[in-house]
Amino acid sequence: MRTRTRCKLCGKKAVVTLPYANTRLCKEHFKEYFTRRIERTIRRYRMVSPGERILVTVSGGKDSVALLDVLSILSEKLGFKIHGLTLDLGIKGYSSEYVRVAEEVYGRLGVEYTILSLKETYGFTIDEVAGIKRRVCAYCGLVKRYVFNRYAWENGFDAIATGHNMDDLLGNALFAIMRGDLEALMKIKPVIPGREALVKRIRPLAFTREKDIKLYICLKKLPVVRTTCPYAVGATSGVFKSKINELEDRFPSIKYSFARTLYDKMQIQMEESDYQLRKCKICGMPSKSQICGFCRLRAELGKISL
Ligand code: SF4
Ligand code: ZN
Ligand code: ZN
Repeated sequence: MRTRTRCKLCGKKAVVTLPYANTRLCKEHFKEYFTRRIERTIRRYRMVSPGERILVTVSGGKDSVALLDVLSILSEKLGFKIHGLTLDLGIKGYSSEYVRVAEEVYGRLGVEYTILSLKETYGFTIDEVAGIKRRVCAYCGLVKRYVFNRYAWENGFDAIATGHNMDDLLGNALFAIMRGDLEALMKIKPVIPGREALVKRIRPLAFTREKDIKLYICLKKLPVVRTTCPYAVGATSGVFKSKINELEDRFPSIKYSFARTLYDKMQIQMEESDYQLRKCKICGMPSKSQICGFCRLRAELGKISL
């Protein structure tokens, strides 16, 4: 007899109910559903073309680990190649832990990878940044964007894949709307096209919920970093994320409609916008001003002189 706890597809014991998709699924069907959803996102936004080389940034957290796992499954079917990149930010008691986890995941999935040390490559660590800056995460974000892009550009990658999930993107969107920050809002989309030395950025988890990622990690028994970054305290966007989740409890498909409308509008906006890019006069990478934010930070740390 079928009960409410049976998978709607095969009748085996269900491990999850997905109200937004009006279904219940068993272990195997949930894993298939999860992968198919990401495949559909990649196809819908034409994120990759056959033959492309994708650099997957892996921090050892659940999002990037799930992303790497699914891209390693889809790479043959969709005809692209992947390479993992993990940046050792030099955060005491944290970086060594996530680097170890990332290496374990790469080994288990058989994915080629690079571990890049911020200290060895650029002469500083995020701990040093924390010594002179208050908003450490904002600078850490700038550093990661710069280093990932430069690595991808110098090594001929066609795209950089990051693990931003739907909850992160919608939380950030709401936060940007509240601040009236249109520039930040315009960056919330599944694909940021490349131009000049700016490599295309893709977010294949843009329609994947955080809850589903946690379940996928657990069902596939994938290792993830358990230590928390010491600078991860009180991120405001987390408050907006939980508000959206409260809304989802009452209106199950609200996150998807919000995401679809937002991404589709932002995708068009960006393609139409014609922002100016210069070359940083220190490092030669793309910059909105004469000297890029990364070089200014290095100068403040006394690593280079302007
Ligand atoms: Fe960087 Fe902040 Fe994330 Fe820590 S929590 S890794 S400082 S962005
Ligand atoms: Zn099933
Ligand atoms: Zn620069």
